[in-house]
Amino acid sequence: MSRVTCKFGGSSLADVACVRGVVDIIRADAGRRFVVPSAPGKRDAGDKKVTDLLYAWHSLALGGLDPAEPRRIIEERFLELARDLGVTFDIAAHLAEIAEKAGMYEAPDYMASRGEYLNGRLVAEVLGAEFVDPADCIRFRATGELDPATYDLLGARLQGDGLYVVPGFYGALPDGTIKTFSRGGSDVTGSIVARASKSDLYENWTDVSGFRMTDPRIVPSARRIEEVTYTELRELSYMGATVLHEEAIFPLREPGIPIHIRNTKAPSEPGTMIVAEREAARPVCGIAGRAGFTMINIEKTLMNREKGFGRRVLTLLEEMNISWEHLPTGIDTMSIILRDDELKGRGEELLATLKKFLSPDVITLSPGLAMVATVGQGMNHHIGVAATLTAALAKAGVNIRVIDQGSSEMNIIVGVEEKDLAAAVRVIYEAFEAWEGRH
Ligand code: ASP
Repeated sequence: MSRVTCKFGGSSLADVACVRGVVDIIRADAGRRFVVPSAPGKRDAGDKKVTDLLYAWHSLALGGLDPAEPRRIIEERFLELARDLGVTFDIAAHLAEIAEKAGMYEAPDYMASRGEYLNGRLVAEVLGAEFVDPADCIRFRATGELDPATYDLLGARLQGDGLYVVPGFYGALPDGTIKTFSRGGSDVTGSIVARASKSDLYENWTDVSGFRMTDPRIVPSARRIEEVTYTELRELSYMGATVLHEEAIFPLREPGIPIHIRNTKAPSEPGTMIVAEREAARPVCGIAGRAGFTMINIEKTLMNREKGFGRRVLTLLEEMNISWEHLPTGIDTMSIILRDDELKGRGEELLATLKKFLSPDVITLSPGLAMVATVGQGMNHHIGVAATLTAALAKAGVNIRVIDQGSSEMNIIVGVEEKDLAAAVRVIYEAFEAWEGRH
């Protein structure tokens, strides 16, 4: 029988009815033995996520203010869940302990992790499963990254043939202090558990039926992606991490464990499979766009002969602690595309530094850029993909400010004015839908 890790997001565990639905899903397949729950999420659009309330509680307590409101809501939610699920776990005692420790640590991680911890305890009791506290077996190094020793430590805890619940979102530093992943990090815990338990499959249960080929706010009819590789998904990262945490694929690349995105509210829908390799019939699997980029253009005669020019540019960026996104070049020109959230308002400062140390003929700063990545493994054996894309943009009157195709022939990235972002995404999507019809 296959071994399955299944992670359930906060919206899939928001109230007692949701938890019961999740229990049914787990019981429907005896392979589903490794369960990773998030903290309870929003029950409706106006509701608050328990994790957000825990952060609020921590910051109020730390600032010496009265955290009564978030505390009350959290306590009510957990007491109600525990009562309706009929568990014997002494949730009131745990809530009291959390209240005692609320302002004890500078970092909010201990508080933030308690949503997952308590939910994990409840779900474990309802399932009759063994509760595994990640504080004991998911290790971070003092520098903050995951300690690979985690896989053996956690693997040893998951060796039996029973059912296990490992709450998402946190682990511990070498001194035992709780540390969380970044927001949405239960997805990462799911990947770690899948790898440590040597699962054949990682099911990520959420509130949507998988990835769509593009942003449904721009193209409401955008098709579902049936299958995508880890690499394609990385290239589509401009879609944002609304479905899956960006870092969730890293633990799974080496063992090649597939991730199946599924919808708890519609379990019979096929979802999206994220795999190591696939046969790509279509040239394009997704189109992702994002605003908020700035481009720096550098021109210097004989740049191509000036040894070390590129290194100097990159060193200056490094010294200002700025990472770059794209670096398209010409013979005597170089463009650097940066994310505004990396640049943090230091555009003019960077420009002055580059001017001072590189003596360019011309250097300009252009903010207000949006990048659109058209991605698909199938691109490399289709002729006319770039032509289709650029023709669609031309027809829609969208000016391409910059274009970049990786040598992997897996993506074509164009930079357009931010005001053209939605139109660019829409016409590229439509052009490849029409391509499907023709081929
Ligand atoms: N509960 C955490 C958050 O809201 C982690 C997660 O749900 O994945 O970010």
